Amino acid sequence: MTNLESTAEHILIVDDQPELTDILSVTLAKRGYAVDCVYDGEQALVWLRSNTPDLILLDVAMPRLDGYEVCRTIKADNRLKDIPVIFISAMQDIGVKQQAFKVGGVDYITKPYQREEVLARVRTHLDLRRRQVELEHIHQLKDDVLRMVSHDLKNPLSAILNAQKLLNMTLREPLRTNGTARESLEIIERNVGKMLSLIRDLIDMARIEGNIDMHLEPVQVNSYLLKHLNEFKLEAKGKNIDLRLVSPPDGVQVWLSPLRFGQVLTNLLSNAIKYTPDGGIVELAAGIEGNDFVLAVRDNGLGIPDEALPHLFEKFYRVPTEAHLEQTGTGLGLSIVKSIVDQHNGRVYVDTEYGKGTTFTVSIPCLEPVPVE
Ligand code: ATP
Ligand code: MG
Repeated sequence: MTNLESTAEHILIVDDQPELTDILSVTLAKRGYAVDCVYDGEQALVWLRSNTPDLILLDVAMPRLDGYEVCRTIKADNRLKDIPVIFISAMQDIGVKQQAFKVGGVDYITKPYQREEVLARVRTHLDLRRRQVELEHIHQLKDDVLRMVSHDLKNPLSAILNAQKLLNMTLREPLRTNGTARESLEIIERNVGKMLSLIRDLIDMARIEGNIDMHLEPVQVNSYLLKHLNEFKLEAKGKNIDLRLVSPPDGVQVWLSPLRFGQVLTNLLSNAIKYTPDGGIVELAAGIEGNDFVLAVRDNGLGIPDEALPHLFEKFYRVPTEAHLEQTGTGLGLSIVKSIVDQHNGRVYVDTEYGKGTTFTVSIPCLEPVPVE
């Protein structure tokens, strides 16, 4: 096999009119494609058992097995299903074309065709497919990096943090009060803590995008909200923030993923407390509105400038004002919130006034009528 053949993109033509097939195959071969031709649907399926072309040009009307049937079989086969299939047919009927797309065709060329038209469409679909494969590779690479980050970085960092704590405990008094030694230990603790929290966010992101842990179950709203709010009591107290809950009555329940939705609450509450100066108010309010479960986290803190709003839910975005950046964060929290709310078929939006405060509202459809006692 020559070099050209081994790297050339491989096209299969399936058509019961050999005269047309031969002309097309010469045209494609001249452009550097490797081409094979078969003359009916059954032959095509036999040929495909031992070959995986990059693209298929498929006639619709053929004796015994027509193009639709061949395409359906290809699309049902895991090894073959991503190969782009372009139908070529003399039939102009719109119903025929619709059917061609319905069975999985990516394009439809009407005979008689212009040579240049076929070449352009073939090139377009081969390029699209190549890009899709590249994206799949990048996606895979991202998953591998995340796995590496989670396993190979998290454990050594935890070990450093533990060693730091041990060192802190065992240092003798003169050293413990020594400014440089103490500061160094604090720097280690703070920075390793930041890295661990970034890693946790990245792992969460990967798990959420992979739809892991999304088990919907009925949740008692009142106690569920209280449990999550209580986790922030100390933090709020440390900043003298008045942390309030406005909850629906006992007995109201909604269907959600307790684990994942908990991250929505945690991220919104953590932000509200983080970006509200000492002495402020943070309120978590929830209720049923029509057929939706609606939840709002309100604060009277820094607020968000208008120009930041379009980017707020992007990964790694942080509002670039001095006051916002004073707080530590990785900019992943709200993108995690958005993904989880999307997975509950809900919406999240923000209402804010720079310098006055912010309200994040989440609304998710209730799956069942909600009993109120
Ligand atoms: P992380 O949550 O990943 O630790 P983060 O809090 O910086 O980091 P997000 O939660 O995604 O990231 O929030 C993005 C940005 O939006 C924040 O950096 C902050 O500037 C701004 N922001 C979020 N919530 C509020 C809020 N309640 N008030 C004011 N600004 C906010
Ligand atoms: Mg955050």
